[in-house]
Amino acid sequence: MAIIMDGKALAKKIRQELKIECDELKKKGINPKLAVIMVGDNPASKVYVRNKSRACNEVGIEYTEYLLKGNTTQEELESLIENLNKDKKVNGILLQSPLPEHLDINKAFKEIAYLKDVDGFTPVSVGKLCIGDDTFVSCTPLGIIRMIEEYNIDISGKNVVILGRSNIVGRPLIQCCLRKNATVTVCHSRTKDIKEHTKMADILISAIGKSKFVTSDMVKDGAVIIDVGINRDENGKLAGDVDFENVERKASYITPVPGGVGPMTIAMLMNNVIKATKEQEMLK
Ligand code: NAP
Repeated sequence: MAIIMDGKALAKKIRQELKIECDELKKKGINPKLAVIMVGDNPASKVYVRNKSRACNEVGIEYTEYLLKGNTTQEELESLIENLNKDKKVNGILLQSPLPEHLDINKAFKEIAYLKDVDGFTPVSVGKLCIGDDTFVSCTPLGIIRMIEEYNIDISGKNVVILGRSNIVGRPLIQCCLRKNATVTVCHSRTKDIKEHTKMADILISAIGKSKFVTSDMVKDGAVIIDVGINRDENGKLAGDVDFENVERKASYITPVPGGVGPMTIAMLMNNVIKATKEQEMLK
């Protein structure tokens, strides 16, 4: 049986450490603040935003929400981002995805000032990640690497297979794993024989969004399995991408859903807000 990687407990420990840092900043009169923008009425986004606000509360980060109507124009959205860029009291800006279809999210991300890019989605952050500079790294990949390291699993020289190539998970994860000297393979919807690749994985990370996509025959004995997916299974229960019950028997380590990657993602957002606050202070 695999060791279950407890993202919930680890995230709690990280939030407690960040609270100490946040308290120290406050003693110096510096109040870290996150602004979250949500457009429209997406029920999943509402849950994510609520969880982010709770985490801010726990760490002591000030939190403001901008709930825009579903018919908000690109100009209105970008004008809000511009105002938040100029607002000296705001240290981090998060634009919650998805946006309604008429809006261009990549164009909106480009408007976020690099120093407030706590999600690591601006072209500057992504470029810096690619060339190995210190930068804001997208929270889910950052949380995955932190969790692997906290469990003392060495990434260097390992075959890491990533399922999914989205801008928020798969692509930045490629760079994070390369930085740690892994040999990285990325699979996506056009990959011919996914199993051929996954069976070679020492560390398999799935970010596809399909319940029970990763079955035990796709997994090497003793592999580390990181499940990013957040799906509903056939009974409406929250589930990852991995057939947990069967894969757990073959893996050495495995993350559960819920309680694995999800809480780590939010903890890394808190980490990035504190990082942004400190970097902005240094420039004053
Ligand atoms: P996304 O933008 O929809 O990307 C999904 C990726 O999976 C794409 O690269 C797609 O390939 C690939 N894919 C889809 N079906 C496939 C198939 N049958 N075979 C192989 N590849 C396939 O999704 P995302 O935003 O990255 O999110 C992925 C999952 O992670 C979702 O369940 C999401 O809710 C979850 N998530 C969790 C967290 C967390 O904190 N736990 C954070 C973010 C996302 P193409 O590129 O070829 O289309």
